[in-house]
Amino acid sequence: SNTIILKSRPQGTPKDSNFQFIHEEVPQPGEGEMLLKSRYVSVDPYLRGRMNDAKSYIPPFKVGEPIDSGIVAEVMESKNENFKKGDYVSGRLPWKKELVSDGEGLHKVNPDKAPLSAYLGVLGLTGLTAYLGLMRIGKPEKGETLVVSGAAGAVGSVVGQIGKIMGLRVVGIAGTDEKIELLKKEFGFDVGINYKTTEDMRAALGEACPDGIDIYFDNVGGEISDAVLFHINKFARMVICGAISVYNETSIPKSISVQPFLIKNSALMQGFIVSNYAEHFPEAINALAGWLKEGKLTYEETIVEGFENIPQAFMDLFSGKNKGKMVVKI
Ligand code: NDP
Repeated sequence: SNTIILKSRPQGTPKDSNFQFIHEEVPQPGEGEMLLKSRYVSVDPYLRGRMNDAKSYIPPFKVGEPIDSGIVAEVMESKNENFKKGDYVSGRLPWKKELVSDGEGLHKVNPDKAPLSAYLGVLGLTGLTAYLGLMRIGKPEKGETLVVSGAAGAVGSVVGQIGKIMGLRVVGIAGTDEKIELLKKEFGFDVGINYKTTEDMRAALGEACPDGIDIYFDNVGGEISDAVLFHINKFARMVICGAISVYNETSIPKSISVQPFLIKNSALMQGFIVSNYAEHFPEAINALAGWLKEGKLTYEETIVEGFENIPQAFMDLFSGKNKGKMVVKI
């Protein structure tokens, strides 16, 4: 088999049976087209939302059709004047080992400038998300306190490091002691809190943030984010980037009312979708690539091998098996 389709829509946590491996003939590329081989496939929490039949900022997957995500592919054969054999391209592509494309929505990536997988992470959508969410909504000012949830993941680990570059006190929340070590040793966070072993998150955040919280970069939602609200400062900014803790809920989760916290602190809570900030992508990529080159920014990846392991790698995001960006190498 060479293609993965959505067999059924998950109820709650995604399972093996929601995915199916099938074989689809790969046609010859026609005029203006090229034959691509997938090399690295990105698995992302937001794909879970697309598995529901619900209106969102991006259309849902159709049952019986291939799932798609960010992929870096190699051009094997080209009849498209913009791409030649041996080029690498990145863009949203279906979960197929090989496919034919007319090149629309794809851009070339340079394997000499960065490892190919980085174009799905720190130099791809997750890096852009971290940079633009923090800079455009978080508006960091030197000396402020930033709290990041999902801190050891792809987006969170970059957010925290940019926070340090901007001169902030940075507190990260993650789910294992190993990840807390990584936050402090590898990414330069000032404090890490393991939300799975901490009984009173509200108290732990109070201790970690003696001057209160000015910016909250939220990747997880739910109870962790509720605890943050008790410590926000006047004019705090909350970047609502993700809510992975509720993506698999089948009923509407119980959450505390945010309004009184926002009112009394004149605080801002703003939803964020990276694709709405496309005009700022060049600025963001420049900054990220520059910091990488200067050694101010580093990144972690969890690379799973094998096309057949794509669904499992995706499912493992929800149990926190990844450190940094989860990608599958084909
Ligand atoms: P990550 O690399 O952060 O992987 C997901 C992580 O979430 C896991 O490693 C796990 O770490 C944590 N997690 C899983 N379940 C829970 C839970 N119930 N409570 C708390 N933490 C949990 O993924 P990404 O960096 O790709 O994405 C992070 C967030 O950003 C997601 O919510 C995603 O949807 C969002 N996002 C939003 C974008 C936008 O434009 N708005 C763009 C890209 C991503 P742990 O061990 O710490 O639990």
